[in-house]
Amino acid sequence: MPEMIIGGEARASVASGDIEVVNPATEEVVDTVPAATPEDVDAAVDAAARAFPAWSATDTEKRAAIVAAAADLIADRAKDLAPLLTAEQGKPVAEAIGEINHLVHGLHYYAEAATKVQGTYQDLPSTFGPSYGMVIRRPLGVCAAITPYNFPLTLLGTKIGPALVTGNTVVAKPAATTPLATLRVAQLFVEAGLPAGVLNVVTGRGSDIGDALVTHRDVRRVAFTGSTPVGKHIMSLAGPDLKRITLELGGSDPVIVCEDADVDAAVKAVIIGRYWNAGQACLGCKRVFVHDDVYDAFVSALVDRVGRYEPGDGTVKAEKPKLRMGPIHTKAGRDELLEQLEDGASKGGEVLIGGGSGGHDQGWFLEPAVVADPAADSRLVTEEVFGPVLPVFRYTDFDDAITRANATSYGLGSSLWTHDVRKIHRAARDIESGMTWVNQIHYGYDELPFGGVKDSGFGKEHGLEALDHYVELKSVVVGGLA
Ligand code: NAD
Repeated sequence: MPEMIIGGEARASVASGDIEVVNPATEEVVDTVPAATPEDVDAAVDAAARAFPAWSATDTEKRAAIVAAAADLIADRAKDLAPLLTAEQGKPVAEAIGEINHLVHGLHYYAEAATKVQGTYQDLPSTFGPSYGMVIRRPLGVCAAITPYNFPLTLLGTKIGPALVTGNTVVAKPAATTPLATLRVAQLFVEAGLPAGVLNVVTGRGSDIGDALVTHRDVRRVAFTGSTPVGKHIMSLAGPDLKRITLELGGSDPVIVCEDADVDAAVKAVIIGRYWNAGQACLGCKRVFVHDDVYDAFVSALVDRVGRYEPGDGTVKAEKPKLRMGPIHTKAGRDELLEQLEDGASKGGEVLIGGGSGGHDQGWFLEPAVVADPAADSRLVTEEVFGPVLPVFRYTDFDDAITRANATSYGLGSSLWTHDVRKIHRAARDIESGMTWVNQIHYGYDELPFGGVKDSGFGKEHGLEALDHYVELKSVVVGGLA
């Protein structure tokens, strides 16, 4: 049984409870991990606090070199890591490899970027004698990194990459159902030379240890990715102590396909955007609005391609031209999708394809679905749909499409398919979301700030900006120059 990583060592919980990690394709237990308690959280935060002075005083170049070495080790071990990620999460091995590659890319990005940060020099008025100002960056201290089950590794990377290279120490808490690949990655950081206590991992349920981690007085920053209700709860806990936070939360991304769109390219992008990771993606394409002129062509090509998916065990490749889709991560998640689908069908939606179990009586499988025109008050429209179910709508007026795109409490991503520069400008300006892709797949680039508005989040991850989110800027005025 893998143990937690606290102070550079494998550690069991102070209590005796375990959590079983279950393979969603087979319903078999993959492994067990300790069910951490608040006392374990204290031990991990203490280890991180003890490691902070030396790590923050280490040269940026050395810190970056260790993070880059860890990235190289992860890349070397991708073939072992991927099946582990598949076993605990469910995604096909090829998608697991894709996730690991994204993690490696992100870690290298921050390792390189950290050594290029330049500061500010400012001439100052000589009101009190000649002086100049400069702005220095001080790491914050212990940072918590709380991650969800859908992309356990890339979302870990977006937090620990910028945190570690800027001199902070980290306590990571993966989802209770996907701790295994995270523990393995943390071990690789230790192997790569990361000093003890700089990166700690506690395994456990959010309901048992989440509050203890967020409210710990030595945790200065919380980076959270997960659902909107838990994100709001974390904000309410972190606010009174003025902790720095970023919240990357749920979404209901709209896609608008205009009359001049490259329909084939749009269908291919929506297929990836909605059905990758069995639709369990925050920035998935969750509502598609198609102009009347191209609606029939779009929907028939979409349904045709969706029919190629074959839900099954992610370790077994589908035979071409079939495409493998893994299971839904939990039974509760699959059941909720079935309820949302049923609600859409009962409120005027026509289920064009999907919704069955794919012939599986074991594992939480769901055949990917397309639903035409469910009512605006159906759950497929008003809620986040976290799985492979896609509602499509017809529109004739672009303004109306924008209004319907915005008719959601979420505001994570959005996309537009057109070559009309006026519409591109309108969408970029008027769609309420943290990101708009134009003629492109929904994807979180390491290079660009990413994060939602409205109920989708608070603050940004990714991009060079993230380096500034892990430091305090401090202005220093230097006088006595004469
Ligand atoms: P979740 O909110 O249930 O859990 C996320 C993490 O929070 C887990 O580690 C969980 O154990 C922990 N947690 C639960 N209660 C806690 C508490 N009281 N205090 C601290 N931590 C607690 O989310 P999930 O079901 O694992 O993930 C799916 C959700 O994540 C979806 O809504 C999805 O849209 C969102 N998501 C957002 C992004 C983004 O970048 N915006 C990316 C991926 C996933």
